Amino acid sequence: MQKRILMVGAGLSGAVIGRKLAEAGHTIVVCDERSHIAGNCYTERDSDTGVLVHVYGPHIFHTDDEEVWSYVNRFEPFMPFVNRVKTTSGGSVYLLPVNLHTINQFFGKTLRPEEAREFLASVADNTIEDPKTFEEQALKFVGRDLYEAFFKGYTVKQWGCSPTELPASILKRLPVRFNYDDNYFFHRFQGMPQNGYTQMVEKILAHERIEIRLNQRFSRADAEGFDHVFYSGPLDGYFDFELGRLGYRTLDFERFYADGDYQGCAVMNYGDVDVPFTRITEHKYFSPWETHEKSVCYREFSRACEEGDIPYYPIRMADEKALLQRYVERAGEEQKVTFVGRLGTYRYLDMDVTIREALDTADAYLAAQAQDRALGAFFVTP
Ligand code: UDP
Repeated sequence: MQKRILMVGAGLSGAVIGRKLAEAGHTIVVCDERSHIAGNCYTERDSDTGVLVHVYGPHIFHTDDEEVWSYVNRFEPFMPFVNRVKTTSGGSVYLLPVNLHTINQFFGKTLRPEEAREFLASVADNTIEDPKTFEEQALKFVGRDLYEAFFKGYTVKQWGCSPTELPASILKRLPVRFNYDDNYFFHRFQGMPQNGYTQMVEKILAHERIEIRLNQRFSRADAEGFDHVFYSGPLDGYFDFELGRLGYRTLDFERFYADGDYQGCAVMNYGDVDVPFTRITEHKYFSPWETHEKSVCYREFSRACEEGDIPYYPIRMADEKALLQRYVERAGEEQKVTFVGRLGTYRYLDMDVTIREALDTADAYLAAQAQDRALGAFFVTP
């Protein structure tokens, strides 16, 4: 039977779930409090330079999931793009992730792969068996010198706390390589949508049974008249923050322009703690197949997310996890609503994982429908 479904949020989760359910014959309304679709991966052409700008910071698509890769390519052709990040630390520029070039340059050596592996093992802290914190993870893998040059200052700026308080999982996102491969990601597929993420999401949402309502802030009363709600806004916001606020980091971007080239690459990190920003992104380098004379860049600053700010990174330390648990219990009491995506499940999610979960959530909803049972508040436990 055809259902009327409300998607709260026009980002990746809302668009992908909405599309799949629309294709299955249901009627979808997608609302978003912003004036545009595509959430934080929103891209737009800068009117001065013509450069495609990643308005809410850099989004680079990478995945090992073949189905997700062909899904995104179905809507927008992806162009080759390899993320090669640089970092400025102590007056020098190095390659990230830490690879053989970084190690040799940093220590003034000419090591071959196996020698570098042995060398790093000799400077690493071998007393740490099971690293729990970010700092332990770093000391165990790269030793104190590299940790302090590349990770400590950056992480203090990014997360606003000591790396001794952060979980090891955050650093596990980054590899260490004993060859000269400076590709930031391991994944088989990597690229950028040719005309930006906004166009990709627009095409995902372009279906006769999908209606989009922008500038519409959701409140629980809006669920009236719908058979089910998929909510991709902040989990605590759904409950009007009644148990308190889940902690996030927010970002401020200082946009500036340059004639020609500013830094010669897409992403330059700044490892020193006394440089106030974490990184500078030069947006024309996110579309290397285009040519632009002028350049538009962002200096990226991270700080605690206050009321009214845009939430970016869930903090997920002990206090937040305890509060999250209470919201999860609260959410379990809700009927006919499923919490999805980075904000709805309060997780640090890459785009490909978001899409994978959205496809699976839509399938689960359809399966539940077929068996005439309800889909729970969470498909993926936060
Ligand atoms: N990180 C770091 N130095 C760097 C880059 C990253 O210490 O130059 C740490 C930092 O704590 C960051 C984490 O590694 O939050 C994950 O980095 P990633 O590049 O995946 O962050 P994202 O691009 O998602 O902000």
